[in-house]
Amino acid sequence: MSARAGVVYLVGAGPGDPGLMTARSLELIATADAVFYDRLIPPGALDGARKDAELAYVGKQPGVPSVPQEEIGERLIAAARQGKSVVRLKGGDPFVFGRGGEEGEALRAAGVEFEVVPGVTAGVAATAYAGIPVTHRDDASAVAFVTGHEDPQKGESALDWDALAGFPGTLVFYMGVKRLRENAAALIAGGRDPEEAAAAIERGTWPGQRTVGATLGTIAAAVERERVKAPALIVVGAVAARREDLAWLERRPLHGRRVVVTRARAQASGLAASLRDLGAEVVELPAIRIESRIESEEVRAAAAAIGVYELICLTSPNGVRLLFEAIAATGLDARALAGATVAAIGPGTARALAERGVLADVLPERFVAEAMVDALAEVEVEGTRVLVARAAEARDVLPDALRERGAEVDVLSLYETVREPPDAEAVAAAQGADYVTFTSSSTVTNLTEALGDGFPSGARIVSIGPVTSETARAAGLSVDVEAERHDIEGLIQALLKDAAR
Ligand code: SAH
Repeated sequence: MSARAGVVYLVGAGPGDPGLMTARSLELIATADAVFYDRLIPPGALDGARKDAELAYVGKQPGVPSVPQEEIGERLIAAARQGKSVVRLKGGDPFVFGRGGEEGEALRAAGVEFEVVPGVTAGVAATAYAGIPVTHRDDASAVAFVTGHEDPQKGESALDWDALAGFPGTLVFYMGVKRLRENAAALIAGGRDPEEAAAAIERGTWPGQRTVGATLGTIAAAVERERVKAPALIVVGAVAARREDLAWLERRPLHGRRVVVTRARAQASGLAASLRDLGAEVVELPAIRIESRIESEEVRAAAAAIGVYELICLTSPNGVRLLFEAIAATGLDARALAGATVAAIGPGTARALAERGVLADVLPERFVAEAMVDALAEVEVEGTRVLVARAAEARDVLPDALRERGAEVDVLSLYETVREPPDAEAVAAAQGADYVTFTSSSTVTNLTEALGDGFPSGARIVSIGPVTSETARAAGLSVDVEAERHDIEGLIQALLKDAAR
């Protein structure tokens, strides 16, 4: 159900992994008039918001002036009173150390209707991702979520440290890094065993998740030595030792590797998602973006006359998508291709066709224009009308070869790849990269020219195939890994093999 007018939704966004956002949270974000969000929400959490939605950052960052809590309440109330549907988006769960209770009370006092959407709280998510079960039949029959933010030295602490020390189960401390030394000492003074297992989990469920294991007696020193920073959880309890068997995230093949993806954003998602699934921290650094040309006279005319072509060659998934959009714009559909032989340059392109109900007749074994020429040797083209639908800046190998064989070839530029200045934050993140992946010559040229001397020097270069490698070498890069199969899957396989060295 969509967000209702005049209602405020106190929504948990989970601990950081976008996959842990609830279906309900995504539905509300997608339909709300306004979203007031905190700092620790997952990357891309607001991507699904309406284009015309008001997005307001009201987070708190240590040491930076922030919007006072009272003002947040007032802004929520004002927006609801204007008849807006409002999402108040918070990290983790809104009612677990999230001040959701206070905001709900302010809304109730003002007579504003609200709903609460729980989120996956860091205390169970970061621990699970670290391989620490917060309860276990042998080790812990209870778990306590505790704030580590209160100073045990001060008399005003709301926590009874002796009682906490005696708690029969796992202790999970939120906000517990800064006062860890005092807190651990207070637990030991209260009778907790200094030999009990403990762990600190930094940035749980985020790409750079890190776990530091120790004992209650040594955890403070370990956290200082390893420079663990917020956001981090501290776990005290025998269950913390179970991660030696149960850790799984940190065992994924690309865990801890930072990989730069240079494809245009419209194309990058598949590669980026696969790399993330394998545990990599992905930095998307597109230096190009795809600019559609399907509004052009040339494309409109070709799409309307698509039925005249006996052979249609498609050279990228983007080309397929845009050709079908252009065909649809003329009121036609896939049946307009019924009479044609359809050739796809590679499996990604073939897949994009299949999704639209067309199975490619010709699919070369290697995914370059030259191989497409070979694969088409079997097809009679003399005197036939052929459409090569592709990017504006593509090479002319294919149309030239077909013309030589007597075909009447129309080359249709469905899109253009245009330069896009890389995002400064992504450029900074790329500096520490382990790998930079190149999926085409244009990604090499655009990125090297955009970055100049700022190209990440320590990273290993992964290329999708010989043409791309050649361009990389010409740009002064040394290619460390070249895919054997020249498609995205092949590039991932090659990267995995290299990472396992
Ligand atoms: N409402 C949030 C907690 C907010 S308090 C929730 O339910 O998770 C902020 C504290 O939560 C941080 O100081 C840290 O201790 C913890 N935290 C939040 N996200 C975390 C993460 N991804 N990994 C580890 N700890 C996290």
